[in-house]
Amino acid sequence: MTRRSLLGLAALPVLAEESLAADSMVTASVQKLQLKHTWTTVMSSSTHRDVLYTTISQDGLTGRGEGAGIVRYGESAESGAAFVNRLAPDLARMDLRQFGKVIDWVLKQSEADWAAKAALDIAIHDWVAQRRAMPVHALWGLDPRDAPLTTFSIGIDTAEVIRQKVREAKAYPVLKVKVGLKNDEEVIEAVRSVTKKPLRVDANEGWKDKDEAVRKINWLEKMGVEFIEQPMPAHMVEETRYVRQRVHIPIIADEACLRPADIPKLAQAYDGVNTKIDKAGGLLQGYRMIQIARSLGLKTMLGCMISSSVAITAAAQLSPLVDYADLDGNLLIANDPYTGVRVINGKLTLPTGNGLGLQGSRPNA
Ligand code: MG
Repeated sequence: MTRRSLLGLAALPVLAEESLAADSMVTASVQKLQLKHTWTTVMSSSTHRDVLYTTISQDGLTGRGEGAGIVRYGESAESGAAFVNRLAPDLARMDLRQFGKVIDWVLKQSEADWAAKAALDIAIHDWVAQRRAMPVHALWGLDPRDAPLTTFSIGIDTAEVIRQKVREAKAYPVLKVKVGLKNDEEVIEAVRSVTKKPLRVDANEGWKDKDEAVRKINWLEKMGVEFIEQPMPAHMVEETRYVRQRVHIPIIADEACLRPADIPKLAQAYDGVNTKIDKAGGLLQGYRMIQIARSLGLKTMLGCMISSSVAITAAAQLSPLVDYADLDGNLLIANDPYTGVRVINGKLTLPTGNGLGLQGSRPNA
């Protein structure tokens, strides 16, 4: 018995020396995304975001990935690039056709770096699907016609700017509105003064008192709100269960739901979970989360960070599986280097090309 089998370790899917192509390589770089509007939530306010771009090349094909490191979890584009550069020599030697095994290896290489893991997982899926001459969603046997509508997000702002943003969002049939600061009523009333569209509301853990959360949600129910996302802090599972028993619209977990193992304990307090590829560590993890949630009878949602079309198109490839989508991060930026998924009459419309189906939107992209 070898030491490897004694330890219960599977062999790594390493390519034989003779099949290692000269172009087999992994890269990491930082991309600066400019926002169209200053973006404010409970957590932060910003005019640009740095994201991590990765490429993974083998056999004349290049897969692309993107991850938006989340400050709250101590991640940045730079720390993500350092993680990818550390793994690059080993990854370049692996047989990407065994992508499930390669991605599980990536996931085990640190206790954190989830956005960087997502960037690698996306690049690997892009490469594998190109290699098999099919779109990424076809790897899971999904029908792109099942892709849902996406909401368009309205950040926290003054009433006047909110009204302007809602008017600019004319093309989107469902809006997502951020609340959770002191001016919740003012924000919702500003939106309602210019539109009757269905609203989905995200409090980003903004309400710390369970009875205050019940009062706010009961008020939102009367304002035509479809569901409320993360009304209370992530650790307040018991308090959220109390709230759930006193309101009539679904409560969706976001900050409380990072990875697959988080989901079973949330089923008692929430009606659904929001999966984000950057938090989960990639599409394989996202797929697992959606399937676990479905198996527990929970509603499923795909959300996103502020990202370019690489990450948003990747998440959209999973979207035929979910009830709700909030995949508008690329629509909020002014300098997207790529085009991929499009929103037509509010519906996510997947590109037909192989892999992610990305195209450069500018020369040299
Ligand atoms: Mg959220």
